[in-house]
Amino acid sequence: MITSKKSLQKMHPYIPPTKNRIGKIKMDFNENAFGCSPKVIGALKKINIDDLSVYPAYSNFIKKLSSYLGVENCQIILTNGGEEAINTIFNTYLEKNDQIIIPTPTFALFKIYADAIGLNVKQINYKKTNKGFIFPLKNVLNAICKKTKLIVIVNPNNPTGTYIEQKNIIKIIKKARQNNSIVLIDEAYWQFCGKTSKELINIYDNIFVIQTFSKAFGLAGLRLGYIISDKYNIKNIAKAISPYSVNNLAVIAASAALDDIEFVNKSIKQVNKNKKILTNELKKLKIKTYCSSANFLIADFGFNCTRVFGQLKNKNILLRNVSAAPILKNCLRITIGTQKQTKILIKELKKILNPQAIIFDMDGVLIDVSQSYHLAIKKTIEYFGKKISFRQIQKYKQMGGTNDDYDLLEKYLFNKGFKIEKTKIIDIFDKLFIKNNLIDNEKLLIGKNLLAKLKQKYKLAIFTGRPKKDVDCTLKKFDLLDLFDFVVSKEDVLGKLKPNPFGLKLAIEKLKTDSCVYIGDNIDDCICGKKAGIETIAVIDKKITNYNDFKSKIENFGVSLIIENINNIKDVLK
Ligand SMILES: *Cc1c(COP(=O)(O)O)cnc(C)c1O
Repeated sequence: MITSKKSLQKMHPYIPPTKNRIGKIKMDFNENAFGCSPKVIGALKKINIDDLSVYPAYSNFIKKLSSYLGVENCQIILTNGGEEAINTIFNTYLEKNDQIIIPTPTFALFKIYADAIGLNVKQINYKKTNKGFIFPLKNVLNAICKKTKLIVIVNPNNPTGTYIEQKNIIKIIKKARQNNSIVLIDEAYWQFCGKTSKELINIYDNIFVIQTFSKAFGLAGLRLGYIISDKYNIKNIAKAISPYSVNNLAVIAASAALDDIEFVNKSIKQVNKNKKILTNELKKLKIKTYCSSANFLIADFGFNCTRVFGQLKNKNILLRNVSAAPILKNCLRITIGTQKQTKILIKELKKILNPQAIIFDMDGVLIDVSQSYHLAIKKTIEYFGKKISFRQIQKYKQMGGTNDDYDLLEKYLFNKGFKIEKTKIIDIFDKLFIKNNLIDNEKLLIGKNLLAKLKQKYKLAIFTGRPKKDVDCTLKKFDLLDLFDFVVSKEDVLGKLKPNPFGLKLAIEKLKTDSCVYIGDNIDDCICGKKAGIETIAVIDKKITNYNDFKSKIENFGVSLIIENINNIKDVLK
């Protein structure tokens, strides 16, 4: 293996989506939900062979763009998206170990490009107040010193939505100038707040304003951005950038987009309207939102954050989970969508935040069966002259397809080279189970008080592969019969055992609501939940040997949340 340069070896890569997001409600990347101007499509339909076979020449487009921006031709340079603008500015002005200041949290690529060069990054945290996230002006000003080479300002900031007043930006520019450092002002979302600092390039020679066609123009797939700065800076930047980094089709499309600014204005109006609608609806759902000057907002879902994110994804509504940043704990970023998308989002959120019912799997969720059913499995295998450990049983159960104990036995014995009649297996298992009174070894996993408390708020049901008489016997023993509205047991599913969702659908039908949560502990349960289209939470003990494999496997089946112990459910279903 050939190793990369040192700075790259340590860094975390940016992981873009590799799966198709088309057809889903895309509230995760701050694209324009209204698409782009039809004029763009019209222009692209008219391309000719020369547009593809000849190297690009930008001067006509630059003229048009600079007149739209009100700057000189020599004050802009095109880039392959705003991202290349950032990378190019870094590559033009910064060397390894140079210090830069990044107010955080912000757009991830600043840190990534900085790490790629091996810069010394000083992150200064935004502050959280009830109203919104505050730009840390004082701390940034105090941090600027002779060592500082560059200061990043994202305005409005992504993901906090913070708008930074121009008078404050000027303070930073001035302090930076005294220290011979430059200021990068990323205005990817400027249209949504209607304010830009681009005219400052005529006053200060140390600022670089970045804008893009990806957001308000709705052209993220094109990859077109630009830098606005003093003409001498633009000349230097031109040395560091590929001469043809922007392709002809992007230029043709963007040129048409500039002929339809009305489209952008309409999008902005819609975004502002839908932002208000969403904010109000979230407020009704008791979800706190923070004021934003861009086409997205931050919402704090508290203890429901992970569930909401996961379950919306199952419903093909994609949000951005930004909860890793300390001041955004439990927060999701929502790109403002169309009115229709906003309605769908609200409808799904209502279901997720106010479920009407909880359906429990029984074994491994409500009841510990390791010393009852699992012991009977062990004894049956031993009867046929083989051995199986509890751990192996657990593994078989989790990996699916053997939810029924008889099936598990048949499969295990078959794998060991035994072909035994199923009726014989059943006979031995049942006899050993009864003879040893194994049902007495069961333990209750969930606190009875908790169950009683849940009962006050939710309808409760059980969906299990157990025969009815075993279910009744156990519920009676633990005095739980009154707590459940009903039980779907083995006899009810007419041979359509898990992972067939028949039984779960039956439960949903009886509950008369699809606003419910199913809690299971293995792959078959997760498949059932997914097929029945309801939220599934998995109870998984972190100590199991193959935890990480198992976790990624069940995540593929769309579990919204993994909890370690059934009693932790009190933290999410309050
Ligand atoms: C989206 C975004 C960009 C640029 O995206 P491009 O698609 O590369 O133009 C730049 N900065 C911020 C803060 C963004 O959110």
